[in-house]
Amino acid sequence: MSYLITHWLGFVSHRSSRVIQESEERYRALVEQASDGIFITDNQERFLDVNNSACDMLGFSREDMLAMHIQDVMPDEEYAKFTQIRLLLMAGETLLNEWHMKCRDGSLIPVEVSAKILSDGRIQGIARNITERKHHEAQLIHLASHDPLTGLPNRSLFQDRLQQAIVKARRNGLKVAVLFCDLDRFKRINDSLGHDVGDQLLQTVAGRLLGSVRESDTIARLGGDEFAIILDDFATEDAVSGIAQKILFTLARPLTIATFNLSTTSSIGISFFPEDGDTAQTLLKNADAAMYLAKARGKNNFQFYSQGIASNALEHLNLEIDLRLALEREELVLHYQPQVDLKSGRVIGAEALLRWRRSEGGMTLPAQLIPLAEETGLIGPIGEWVLRTACLQNKAWQNAGLPGIRVAVNLSAKQFMHQDLVQIVERALDETGLEARYLELEITESSLMQKSEDAVVTLSKLKAMGIHLSIDDFGTGYSSLSYLQRFPIDTLKIDQSFVYDIATNQAGAVIIQAVIALAHAMKLRVIAEGVEAAYQIAFLAVNRCDAMQGYYVSHHLPADGLTAFLQKRYELHPQTVPQLRNAKN
Ligand code: C2E
Ligand code: MG
Ligand code: MG
Repeated sequence: MSYLITHWLGFVSHRSSRVIQESEERYRALVEQASDGIFITDNQERFLDVNNSACDMLGFSREDMLAMHIQDVMPDEEYAKFTQIRLLLMAGETLLNEWHMKCRDGSLIPVEVSAKILSDGRIQGIARNITERKHHEAQLIHLASHDPLTGLPNRSLFQDRLQQAIVKARRNGLKVAVLFCDLDRFKRINDSLGHDVGDQLLQTVAGRLLGSVRESDTIARLGGDEFAIILDDFATEDAVSGIAQKILFTLARPLTIATFNLSTTSSIGISFFPEDGDTAQTLLKNADAAMYLAKARGKNNFQFYSQGIASNALEHLNLEIDLRLALEREELVLHYQPQVDLKSGRVIGAEALLRWRRSEGGMTLPAQLIPLAEETGLIGPIGEWVLRTACLQNKAWQNAGLPGIRVAVNLSAKQFMHQDLVQIVERALDETGLEARYLELEITESSLMQKSEDAVVTLSKLKAMGIHLSIDDFGTGYSSLSYLQRFPIDTLKIDQSFVYDIATNQAGAVIIQAVIALAHAMKLRVIAEGVEAAYQIAFLAVNRCDAMQGYYVSHHLPADGLTAFLQKRYELHPQTVPQLRNAKN
């Protein structure tokens, strides 16, 4: 230790030996107390002296260290760098830098070193172990660049990695593929089952995605239910198709979260460097556009980006402009689909279904029309028009002496959330003179779940007016019947997918039976949608379903078509409905 002390202080020999000894002892104590490693080397970089902390930090004894060279405790590449900057130190500068030191067991620890070269070539330095600080720094960097829910890289890290992949691919003349993956119907699950279930679903999806690609591929969560993948090591575009197919298949496997058996599919859009863009931003934007095409083509599929997609966006814009004019040009029409009571066999109502007869010909279906109207805010005036037209038409049927039926009007989620809904409905009834009991409003489960407290208030007001309330597409929102008790509902409309499943899937039949039994216990009526065949009617009637609508009885008809239908006094044939047969015998 005497070396360390004397050289540290630069003492010279003319001091009296007592003074020197005292100082040495003082400073030895100080040096030994220091928690940082302190060392001094000779001009050949061999350790001349080290303190205890340095020995502890590296795991060597003092004797070991005094037989070692600086190079023995530094990784080779850092030692090479060190010899380069040694020149700087010779010029009298103090080096303050982060290095690594090699421990006895071969492990490396990060250290912050402050070192100086004395005029005779000896090096003195202090090394601080910064393992913990590095760990915190790494944690912070991880937090800033990763999604906390899934642990996957976030959007900004994804863009960095994509940019790097582009640079590498450009250098090597290779391709990069970007896959943009969005879950289908995630919002519905999140809204109806709650965010905890939604979060767990996203975590499961992240795990499944990781299992679908190589470890070296980047998978990121861009936000919400959007994930993106970079592939930069594939042979052909076919190989990318294969991976996309595998992802679709893997994500579609059923899963159980809490007590819910869920299934979710996804839609994937794919873009390639260099064909579809040469920046990270463009590639991601184009993969996103291709993903929208996959959604439009029925979801649960993947699509490649092409120039044509851009023109689709233009078409979308034209559609929006046209829709704004559609109301003025009187291009919107309502069709009506009769609803038949399964006890009497008679028509008891009609659902109003919106159609857009565009000037260039062709009908636009609501599946395209309603989302566009919601997106553009046109759902307000369009919805009001639907409501008023349906009430007016029903009043006209009554005035023509036809039997009174209820007209059912669909409300989209946005309409239902509108704060003036109750006044809008009141106004439609007032202006058309239709009694409230001849109007039914159809709401979806997810609309109810979005702001359930407000929903209870709105529904109660509508109910108090005498309006009939039903839940549309029941069963597709994964909800339980028990939550319905909170809402003043009259009717459940069993979604057509279950009716379709009666013959193909045992589960469909069981679900229908259970829904009818529970609904009846809660004093709710049940109507089945999408009934196309006699055997479905027989099944529904035997299980005491109250009513039905579907192509078996009639497609949706223009207003005068329904007028004719009502004039014929349609009745279900007793042969199709066992109950009717019994009642009439
Ligand atoms: P929804 O309310 O469940 O309407 C039933 C849909 O099933 C209608 O499709 C109808 O044409 C179709 N359908 C009826 N019977 C059968 C059948 O036997 N087999 C099959 N395969 N399908 C049948 P549409 O008219 O295309 O309407 C789709 C959805 O658009 C509606 O589903 C409703 O949610 C929405 N919608 C329709 N009109 C309006 C409207 O005026 N306002 C709002 N907000 N939404 C509307
Ligand atoms: Mg409906
Ligand atoms: Mg429906």
